[in-house]
Amino acid sequence: MSVAIRAVCFDLDNTLWDSDVVIGRAELRLRDWLERHYPLLPQAYSVAEMRAERLRLIQAEPQAAHDLSYVRRECLARHAAAVGYGRDVAEQAFEVFLTARNELELFADVRSALARLGQRYTLASLTNGNADLVRIGIGDWFAVSLTAADVGAAKPHAHAFERTLQALALDAPEVVYVGDDPHLDIAGARAAGLRTAWMNRKSADWPEELSPADYVVTGCHELVSVLNAV
Ligand SMILES: [Mg+2]
Repeated sequence: MSVAIRAVCFDLDNTLWDSDVVIGRAELRLRDWLERHYPLLPQAYSVAEMRAERLRLIQAEPQAAHDLSYVRRECLARHAAAVGYGRDVAEQAFEVFLTARNELELFADVRSALARLGQRYTLASLTNGNADLVRIGIGDWFAVSLTAADVGAAKPHAHAFERTLQALALDAPEVVYVGDDPHLDIAGARAAGLRTAWMNRKSADWPEELSPADYVVTGCHELVSVLNAV
C-alpha cells in the first residue's frame, strides 16, 4: 500500500491485558464490598442474576447498549432500590467496580512496544469497554483515547472508527487498528477503511466467513516488527 501509516489505534480488553481476569476480579471485589457494606443486595441477587439483569436492560434499551458503565450503574441502582437502598449505594458500588477494573497488569510486551511504536507513530485507543488509560497509568502514551460511550457507538459500527479518525485528524488508510476480536475489531475497522492487525495471543482460528486482517501478530513485539517492515 502506498499511503504511509501515521497512527496505530489499539483495542484494549484482551489486546493490551487479559480482560477476563480483570473483569472477573473486579466483580469479585464488588461482591465482597457489597457483602460487607450493603449485604441485602448480594443476598437478593446472585452474580448470574445481576448479569441477567444487565442483558435484559441492553435488550430493552438497545440505544444504550454501547455504554457499559450506564448499563452496570443503572442495574445496580435497580437492585439497590429493590432491597431498599438509595441510588448513592449504586454509585459507590459502581466506583468500587471501576477502580478494580482499572487495577490491572498489562501483558508483559505492552510497555516496551508502546515505547517503540510511539517513536514512529501517533498512538490511540478505541474500546467498547470502560477501561481508563489514565487510571491504569499509561494515558500519556496515547494522543487519543475513546470509548464507545464517548463516541455514541460501539465497534463494529463505522461511526466509532470515524470518530476516532476525526480525533486523530487522519484518513482511514493512515491508521492501523489493532485488536483481538475478528468481528468487532478487524471487520469493523476494515469496513471503515482502516488497515487492520489481528492480535491473536491465544492461537485462535480465524473465522472462515471473514476476510483476513492485513497483518496477523501473536503479540506486541511482533506488531512492532511487522510495522517496521511496512
Ligand atoms: Mg478486545
